[in-house]
Amino acid sequence: MSVAGMPQVLGRQKWVKTRIIATVGPASESVAMLRDLVISGVDIFRLNFAHGEYAWLSDLVRRIRQVSAELDCPIGILADLSGPKIRLGEIPGGDVFCNEDAVFRFIRGLASDEPTDLTCTYEPLIDDVKPGDRILLADGTVAMVVLEKDPASAWVRCHVIQAGRIRSRQGVNLPGVALSTPSVTVKDRRDLEWALQNHIDFIGLSFVRQAADIIELKRLIEGHRPKVTPLIVAKIEKTEAVADLDNILSVTDAVMVARGDLGVEADICRVPILQKQIIRRCNELRIPVITATQMLDSMQTNELPTRAEVTDVANAVIDGTDAVMLSGETAIGHHPVQVVRMMDRIAAEAEPLVHAASLNDLRDDESRRARPITEAVTRGAIAASEYLQADLIVVATVTGRTALALSRLRGRVPVLAFTDREEVARRMCLYWGVTPILSRVVQQSADALLAFVLKWGERHQLLTSGSKIIVVGHTNWLGETHDLMMVHVVP
Ligand code: PEP
Repeated sequence: MSVAGMPQVLGRQKWVKTRIIATVGPASESVAMLRDLVISGVDIFRLNFAHGEYAWLSDLVRRIRQVSAELDCPIGILADLSGPKIRLGEIPGGDVFCNEDAVFRFIRGLASDEPTDLTCTYEPLIDDVKPGDRILLADGTVAMVVLEKDPASAWVRCHVIQAGRIRSRQGVNLPGVALSTPSVTVKDRRDLEWALQNHIDFIGLSFVRQAADIIELKRLIEGHRPKVTPLIVAKIEKTEAVADLDNILSVTDAVMVARGDLGVEADICRVPILQKQIIRRCNELRIPVITATQMLDSMQTNELPTRAEVTDVANAVIDGTDAVMLSGETAIGHHPVQVVRMMDRIAAEAEPLVHAASLNDLRDDESRRARPITEAVTRGAIAASEYLQADLIVVATVTGRTALALSRLRGRVPVLAFTDREEVARRMCLYWGVTPILSRVVQQSADALLAFVLKWGERHQLLTSGSKIIVVGHTNWLGETHDLMMVHVVP
């Protein structure tokens, strides 16, 4: 039996608990680069369905799985569906400057020869907006207000209140406008089918507005009867979603604070507050949460981040995020490996401020009511690990639930999570503080698992004589199924 490799630990100064998600693009698509990124700290790769053909995406999946096999290290894949993202159509000449007070029209169709006639990918825009509504373009840098609507709904006239240049295919946001389109678009359905065929681990849905959007996505997934059901990541980037957050959290598996569009849909000044509120609620309900967008943006070109960016990543970790995400930095940036190493180092410095909310402070929440035995055993393990100043918690898990319960407790001691199911190992890549290991040893016995861990710990110089290991498991090692916790001292 081979001892699982541990690039996450080997490539790093410390055992970092915050998970890192990196978006793949031209700067990171090669096998060599994907491997370097994993060794530097990436746990999950994100495929952005706003870009890329299926052939390229399938190739990426194959390469990521190849790197995972070579390094003997589970790597998750997140398919980020675009949702009802609205984009400008073609602008004659590629771009146009919108002067303050200038008047433009949105017309139906996808292209126009008239420079002041704009088109977009969302046909019902003209039906959905009304005079007084704002239309934001180019990441919110250009703002227009609807003046008048053609009675036959062939166009709307808008006037520019914030000047700037707009380019073909840039994003369009309609804050506060109730869109008539479904949240899972026709394109999303095609992308979802591809994702299920490729056994993708996490499905992100953009522009979620309400819990019903997630329920619909789950219904579509069930309709395909996949062998393994992916986890759903609800991207929170619309004010409607913030308003319906608790309902969304009751149906989603994970959440992303998608600060890019959130900063356009809501007042940009409220983004830090919303980030903290969403993370706090996810922590309370024990739902993994990802903080995304512009975290180390200047490293797309520079070798070092700004002080403000470093502080932003550290603050997200201290807020309680499970994962931090890189977008352009790893997709098209000049320094993908340096940016991942930097994120890893910042997280390592910030994490001591996160550890161990006192067990007494934990709410008597829904997870406890749903799985009281798992809750009791994992709380016991964290308490014992703190009291004994243990070096490692080892968990044997079938579904990943015991590992997730441990993760939510934010213990100081690293958790090594063993499973014999590939898809479970990959979904645990999102769990804070959990290092997944795929191995059949977990089916054998506590002794076999401990022997494996001791060999592994020795190899990585993490365990020495006297090191204390807490073992937790929902196993049938003793004949029947038990939830157990035991303490082992390395002889
Ligand atoms: C965001 O808006 O912050 C985000 C992550 O979504 P996308 O990158 O798809 O725009």
